[in-house]
Amino acid sequence: MGMTKRGENNKVCATELNIFDIQRFSWVDGPGIRTVLFFKGCNLDCIWCHNPESRSFDRDLLFYADRCIGCGKCVDICPNGCHAFSEGRHVVRRERCAGCGKCASVCNAEALEIVGKAAGVDDIMEEVLEDMEFYGMSGGGLTLSGGEPLLQPEGCFEILERCKKRGIHTAVDTAGYVEWSSFERVLPVTDYILYDVKTLDDEVHKKVCGVSNRAIIRNLLNLKDRDVNLIVRIPLVPGVNDTREDVLEIVGLVGGFDNLVKVELLPFHKLGRSKYEALGLAYRAEKIPVPDREKVCALRQHAAGKR
Ligand code: SF4
Ligand code: SF4
Repeated sequence: MGMTKRGENNKVCATELNIFDIQRFSWVDGPGIRTVLFFKGCNLDCIWCHNPESRSFDRDLLFYADRCIGCGKCVDICPNGCHAFSEGRHVVRRERCAGCGKCASVCNAEALEIVGKAAGVDDIMEEVLEDMEFYGMSGGGLTLSGGEPLLQPEGCFEILERCKKRGIHTAVDTAGYVEWSSFERVLPVTDYILYDVKTLDDEVHKKVCGVSNRAIIRNLLNLKDRDVNLIVRIPLVPGVNDTREDVLEIVGLVGGFDNLVKVELLPFHKLGRSKYEALGLAYRAEKIPVPDREKVCALRQHAAGKR
């Protein structure tokens, strides 16, 4: 979805990316201290997703009912009549929302938030460059994450190339459900691929992520021995992939890759639950337990190749 638009004097402006956040000083999305750029839009439907605001390609309106003080400013300003009070309750008619952000801008209680924006590569680079010193001392850099960044391959390429020209280390965090051509586009300017693998069982994958895993596995196998460092990340979800066999199966698939750096386990958590409520979405992971700590430690040993 990398969009190129024409500005004044019909000159081609820099690509704009559809993103929802930029986080600085991350330690968990690749080596060293990193800036993480979160792309908006994802083509998987994982039931445990802890970033539900990343999934739609459109802007999202989040409403935190517990913060609302009932001032009515949003009711007055919304051009589409999305906000109303009925029997003392604040009702949000999301189906009418155009994502203009006017209501969030007048809400002093911070009960409303708009997520998602188009950001130019120049503006993003300005923010990325602010932490050059930290990248240098820690071996860090920029990580593209999401959502699914590789659904915007041209935008990814442009920003990664700009980073490489400035000597900044680059990483792409992907779920892999994209055309192989998208990988080919970014690989020459990418140092690390962080590749999420949920399960090798296609039926289970369809059930918990909404799509087949065939293209994901095919792309993963295509990355074997390429000139890019590979970190395979398994979101560890009880009842889906939390047995020794589940983990060893994935380790067995990638264990022989010369470019594999490690297999990481990311235990399921429920920190995203409040965002579902704010988005007016059902939280489907309520019944999934948080993985037991000892079990996670044992599975991490298996992931590290210690059977
Ligand atoms: S502007 Fe904010 S605090 Fe006021 S009614 Fe709307 S959501 Fe509630
Ligand atoms: S974002 Fe715009 S259209 Fe949507 S509820 Fe707020 S004011 Fe209305």
